Amino acid sequence: MFHRVNKPDATPGSDKPRRRRCKNCGELFPKTRHNREFCSDACRKEHHRHGGAFVPLKDACQKFINIRLAGVATELQLSREKAEQLRETAERLITGLQEAAAVLKRERQQLDSMTTELRQARRQETQAALLLQNAMTVFQKQATEDAQQQHQQQHQQQQHPKTDIVQP
Ligand SMILES: [Zn+2]
Repeated sequence: MFHRVNKPDATPGSDKPRRRRCKNCGELFPKTRHNREFCSDACRKEHHRHGGAFVPLKDACQKFINIRLAGVATELQLSREKAEQLRETAERLITGLQEAAAVLKRERQQLDSMTTELRQARRQETQAALLLQNAMTVFQKQATEDAQQQHQQQHQQQQHPKTDIVQP
């Protein structure tokens, strides 16, 4: 059964490798037979079914898929970060707009109340001017009447001197 005695790689201290790389998957396996090329029956069958190009192709495919997956993951992460940044920017803008709107509203209200106060003040000013004008007219009229009356009294006293003071 075993003829390992004649095999050079079975000799202790030999330079020949005691392990061999599987022709299908590339894994190292113990070299139990000199003509053994595969690590397992599965690898042997796979190699015979798909040929030698299968494993490199499979590896290349896997590598390509891994790279693509990593790229997609990176892109996804980047787009998530970008989306988060955009969301934060949008929130800041909205907050800023809301603050600006609130300030604008307050200023508008102040302006409105100032306008109302100004209108009231103008109305009061007009009323005061009218009252002053009326008072001036009344005063002038009274002064004129007083002067006329005084003049008449003086005239009457000069002609018919008498006292106005009546003692009780
Ligand atoms: Zn293998």
